[in-house]
Amino acid sequence: MTQSGKQTQEFRAEVRKVLNILTHSLYTNREIFLRELVSNASDALDKLRFRINRGDKPIAPDLPLEIRIDIDKDKKLLTIADTGIGMSAEELAENLGTIAKSGSEEFLAQLDSAAPADGGDAEADKPDAANIVGRFGIGFYSVFMVAEKVEVVSRPAFGDNSAVHVWTSDGLGAYSIETGEEGALQRGTVVRAWLRDDAAEFLEKFRVESAVRNHSAFMPFPILLDGSRVNSEPALWLEPKFSVKKEQYAAFYKTLTYDAKEPLDVLHLSVDAPVQFNALLFIPDSAQDFFGMDRDFWGIDLYARRVLIQRRNKDMIPEYLAFLKGVTDTEDLPLNISRETLQENVLLRKINQVIVKQTLNHLEKLAGNDQEKYLRFWRLHGKIFKLGYHDFPNRERVAALLRFNSSALNDGDALSGLDEYMARAPEGQKTFWYVSAPNREAARLNPHTERFRVKGIEVLYLYEPVDEFVMEGLGKYKEWDFKPVENAPDDALSAFGDKQEQPQGTPLSEEEREQFTLLLERMREILGDRVKEVRISGRLEDSPSVLVSPDGSMTSSMEKLLKVMHKDDTLPVKILEVNQAHPLLRSMLRIFRADPRDAMLELMTQVLFDASLLLDGFIKEPQALASHVNDLLTETASLYAEVRKA
Ligand code: ADP
Ligand code: MG
Repeated sequence: MTQSGKQTQEFRAEVRKVLNILTHSLYTNREIFLRELVSNASDALDKLRFRINRGDKPIAPDLPLEIRIDIDKDKKLLTIADTGIGMSAEELAENLGTIAKSGSEEFLAQLDSAAPADGGDAEADKPDAANIVGRFGIGFYSVFMVAEKVEVVSRPAFGDNSAVHVWTSDGLGAYSIETGEEGALQRGTVVRAWLRDDAAEFLEKFRVESAVRNHSAFMPFPILLDGSRVNSEPALWLEPKFSVKKEQYAAFYKTLTYDAKEPLDVLHLSVDAPVQFNALLFIPDSAQDFFGMDRDFWGIDLYARRVLIQRRNKDMIPEYLAFLKGVTDTEDLPLNISRETLQENVLLRKINQVIVKQTLNHLEKLAGNDQEKYLRFWRLHGKIFKLGYHDFPNRERVAALLRFNSSALNDGDALSGLDEYMARAPEGQKTFWYVSAPNREAARLNPHTERFRVKGIEVLYLYEPVDEFVMEGLGKYKEWDFKPVENAPDDALSAFGDKQEQPQGTPLSEEEREQFTLLLERMREILGDRVKEVRISGRLEDSPSVLVSPDGSMTSSMEKLLKVMHKDDTLPVKILEVNQAHPLLRSMLRIFRADPRDAMLELMTQVLFDASLLLDGFIKEPQALASHVNDLLTETASLYAEVRKA
């Protein structure tokens, strides 16, 4: 880019795509373009103040740091000016001509999920601009939702070359940059937007004022609309707690997060030791997807004596508290600290420790005083919070705050903690038993849980893959250990009496037992190397059979996870355990005694195995399974018809 003359440049493809969507989709909440332009102006002022605090001297040093919005109705012109850091010609091209690739991709992905499928024109069906703009480094372009032409005049605050440049575009295919007049502005940036007819509302002062109050009330710099100041909110986090109203917290939260909902909870901290800081931290009332879209969208805004040092700083909270939104402000940090050295800063680590402690205190109190609210917190943020099992010094406290569904609860939505589990357990139990399953029904049908039901021993139901890592990571809680039910040794529950009447069936005679052993051998022969062994089970009550892992170490859900990770689609070779008291096995024994090589016996063994595999969560050859079942049905149907003399 040369310094003089007019240069016209095509927008990059991804910018064109985004612009096209912004100008042609009918958005609700178009007013957020003001939020974006004001926040850019505020960022520019923040950057300038940061440099000044470091000792750098800007041009026009006496200009106040402020944002001016002016309306010219006749020209249909809206102007947003700041006296901030400004942009050179290169920066104009770089910042207003491209989008970080990841930003535009995520924007488009989000749009897909937000857009109505049938293009219906009801107001409620229009995509909401507030939710999709501003998150992906495309905030500036939102001005084209309302403008047919935009001019950005800018003059850098630092550097040898502080010439004025003008960026112009109609938001279609291209933009141009040319040198502007020396006297056009003293410092900073002016955005001029010529509004489309359908956006004339933003030429009304009250309309602009309400939008600015709505979205930008807490901007740390004066915002002047046609000469008079419209924002006057104090830095709430520095106010004494008792003087802040609930509505003020909510308003601040909304401008901070763009969340339309009120926060679920607020922590307002004022700390003097071991480090001085004030913090305003919010627990949102909506969930974020920290394992997808929002992977990097967390952190706490860091201020030093009301000067913004860094947005979304990730050193002040551990990842498992990523659901927290808010700001901290400290007097102990030099204003001229470089963002690079922030990371090694001991101070931030201390702030981190205090925030962890205070947040855990807060959650413990909530869990004790307002269970319902705590469970709401857990349902929204438990997924990320449970990763706190990593936090060794605080492990025990995090563990106490975990919530699970379990066999002792009445339905799939109910939750309880480890302490409640311990309180319900019979004398002598020192283990938290758990089973992984996709849902409650599957957990209850898991054959491994049967004898726990008979003995009345509670089993925790883990519905998320990460839960098993949490259990293994915790190792122990209050001296109790965690074990998956499928790894329970045969005598694990022998100390506990039956809670449920069990039909035992007639015991097998000596001779029948010998025959049963031979039946097991025959079944093994039929299944070949698909099983490691066929043996009598000590864990079954209702089910005829179950698959168990040979070494008893890895749970089948963990094994599945590893297989997925290694793209291994082979079936695991396990031990088939059968319930010798089950009527099916008793009948099979009779068939075996009549003829060890009976074809029906073979078919039944196949289906029994297939069913066990299915219950273990594997289905690899549905055709083979269906054909075995059909053969079996054909045989039994003909026999049954015979019996019914149909
Ligand atoms: P984001 O603010 O998320 O980076 P935007 O699309 O809002 O994305 O702005 C893109 C970039 O353009 C900003 O990062 C900033 O570098 C630059 N920019 C926009 N407005 C201004 C301004 N008023 N003063 C200085 N730089 C600006
Ligand atoms: Mg922006």
